[in-house]
Parts: sequence; C-alpha cells; structure tokens
Amino acid sequence: DLPKLTPADPAAKALAYSEDAATVKHPAFKAGSHCANCNFFKGAAGAAYGPCQLFPKNSVSAKGWCSAWAKKV
Ligand code: SF4
Repeated sequence: DLPKLTPADPAAKALAYSEDAATVKHPAFKAGSHCANCNFFKGAAGAAYGPCQLFPKNSVSAKGWCSAWAKKV
C-alpha cells in the first residue's frame, strides 16, 4: 500500500488536505464532499484509505478532503 498522505506534506498543504472532512473550514468546501465521493479517488468502495490521482505517491483518507475535490462522475 502507498504511505498515507499527511497534512504536513507540502503538496497536501498546498491543497489544504485534511484527513477528516468533518473538521474542514475552507471557503471551497461543499457540505457532503469527501475523498470517497471525489472523482480523483481510486480506492475500493468501503476502504478507509485509497489512492488519489493528485497524490500519486500516497494514499488518502476516504473521509478526507482537499481543495481539488471534484464530484465523482
Ligand atoms: Fe481527496 Fe479528491 Fe483531494 Fe484526492 S483530490 S485528496 S480524493 S478530495
């Protein structure tokens, strides 16, 4: 598995990544959005962590969020 992305990672910081969307206070945050329903999340359904196309070296939290969130299509 890929190492978990940490919010302290410079790339994560640049996109205001959080491991917990419930705690996010960001102007771009839309209620209900989180990694598991983001178009860039490639984790298995129900998995706690999974790959994200924007952070190819890491896995991200299914409950996480970043400012690049885009609705899964
Ligand atoms: Fe999560 Fe999507 Fe941001 Fe990746 S791009 S960290 S899946 S919100």
